[in-house]
Amino acid sequence: MKPQQAILRLGELTLKGRNRHRFENTIFEQVKRTLRSFEAVSYRKEFGRIILQLNGTDYEELMPYLRKVLGLTSFSPVYSSPLELERIQETALGVIQSLKPLPRTYKVSVRRVNKSFPHDSQEMNRLVGGCVLRAFPDLKVDVHRPEAELRVEIREREALLYCRVDEGAGGFPVGSNGKAMLMLSGGIDSPVAGYLALRQGLQVEAVHFHSYPYTNEKSQQKVIELARKLAAFAGPVKLHMVSFTSVQTKIHAAYNQNLLIALLRRAMLRITEKLAEERGAGAIVTGESLGQVASQTLSSMNTIGRAVSLPLIRPLVCMEKREIIRVAEGIGTFPISILPHEDCCTLFLPPSPSTNPNLRVVESIESKMTWLEDELEEAVRNTRSLLVDEEDVVNQRDKFASFF
Ligand code: ATP
Ligand code: MG
Repeated sequence: MKPQQAILRLGELTLKGRNRHRFENTIFEQVKRTLRSFEAVSYRKEFGRIILQLNGTDYEELMPYLRKVLGLTSFSPVYSSPLELERIQETALGVIQSLKPLPRTYKVSVRRVNKSFPHDSQEMNRLVGGCVLRAFPDLKVDVHRPEAELRVEIREREALLYCRVDEGAGGFPVGSNGKAMLMLSGGIDSPVAGYLALRQGLQVEAVHFHSYPYTNEKSQQKVIELARKLAAFAGPVKLHMVSFTSVQTKIHAAYNQNLLIALLRRAMLRITEKLAEERGAGAIVTGESLGQVASQTLSSMNTIGRAVSLPLIRPLVCMEKREIIRVAEGIGTFPISILPHEDCCTLFLPPSPSTNPNLRVVESIESKMTWLEDELEEAVRNTRSLLVDEEDVVNQRDKFASFF
C-alpha cells in the first residue's frame, strides 16, 4: 500500500496575525520550488496546511526535500479510501501495518466533514478502532497519550487516513521577520548562523570580504558554494563581494599592532552597515561564538560591535563548536567549509591580537585615519553583487545595477 497524498503542516506561529496569508503563500511557493523536479506532484492549499497529490511519486523520496522548507512543522503520508466502511477499515489496517516500529498504544480520531456518510464520528471511532484491535491484539488504546494517532477524515468523495508524523524544519517562513545582511566567510560558523537566521524568518543577503589578489579566486568560489547551500532553504540568495584589499592594506600600513584585528573587523562591519542601508536590511548577522578566538571575547565583541548602530545578531554566540558542526553537517555546508582557503583576515595578522581591545584607544587610532571613511565608501561602490541559486550563479552587476 502506497500513500497517494501528503499533508504538510504549517507552524502555529504562522497562523496568527494579519500576515498569515502572506506567510502561507511564502511557504506554498517554497514547497513548489523545492519539489520542482517532481513534476507529477500537484498542490492544494488548505487552512494551516498544504496537501500534495503525489500522483505516483514516492513519499519517501520527497522527505529530504520537504525537510528543507522552513515554516513546515511536520508532514504525513496520507492514504485515500473510497467511502465504504469495509474499505476504510482495510486501509486503516494497512496504515497501522506501515508504521515502523509498531506503536504500543494508539487511538483513532475520526472527523466527518461529509454529513451524508451513514456513520457519525463516534460510531466510526468504534468501528475502525474495533477492527484495528482485532487485527493487532498487542495494541492498546490510550486516549490521553497514545504513541500513534490514526486520523480518519471522511470527506465528500473519499476518506483520508494518516498516522505517521514526520518532523519538518520548523521555524518561520523565510522573510516573514524582515531582512538582514549576513557576513559570510568561508568558515564553518557563518553559514550556520545564516541558516539559523533564515529559520527565524529573516531574509538574508550575504556579504563576503576578499583580499584578491592576496586571497585566490578559489576562496570566493567557496563562498558562492556556501551561499548555494543556503539558497536551498531561502530561494536565490544575493551575495555581495566586497574587495577589502585596499582598506586592509591601508589600515595595516598605518597601524600594525595588537589592535589590528579589531580595526579590520570594525571596518568590515561599517561597510556591511552601509550595504544594509542601501539594501533595506534591519540587522547584521555574524557567525561569532563567544570565546572561540581573540576577536570573539566579550570585550572584543563589544569594541568591534560599537562600530555600527544596526543590531548585531549572533545566532551562535552561546553554541559550542560541536553543536555548530552538527548543524553544518545537517545543512550540507560542513564539507565545503573545511576545504582549505585563505581568509582575508588571516593576512597581515599581528603576532598577538588583543583579547581585550580598548574602545577609546581603537577610536583614537581610527580618528587619525582621515582617509578611512572615503576608503569604506569606495569599497561599497566597488562591490560586485551576484544572485546565487541552488544550481547556477546568475551574473551580475549589469543585471542588478539597481542594487546600487
Ligand atoms: P567563520 O567560521 O564563520 O569564519 P570564525 O570562527 O572563523 O567564523 P572569525 O573568522 O573571527 O570567526 O569571524 C567572525 C565572523 O566575522 C564570521 O563568522 C563572519 O560572520 C564574519 N567574517 C569573518 N571573515 C569574514 C569575511 N571574509 N567576509 C565576511 N564576513 C566575515
Ligand atoms: Mg573565519
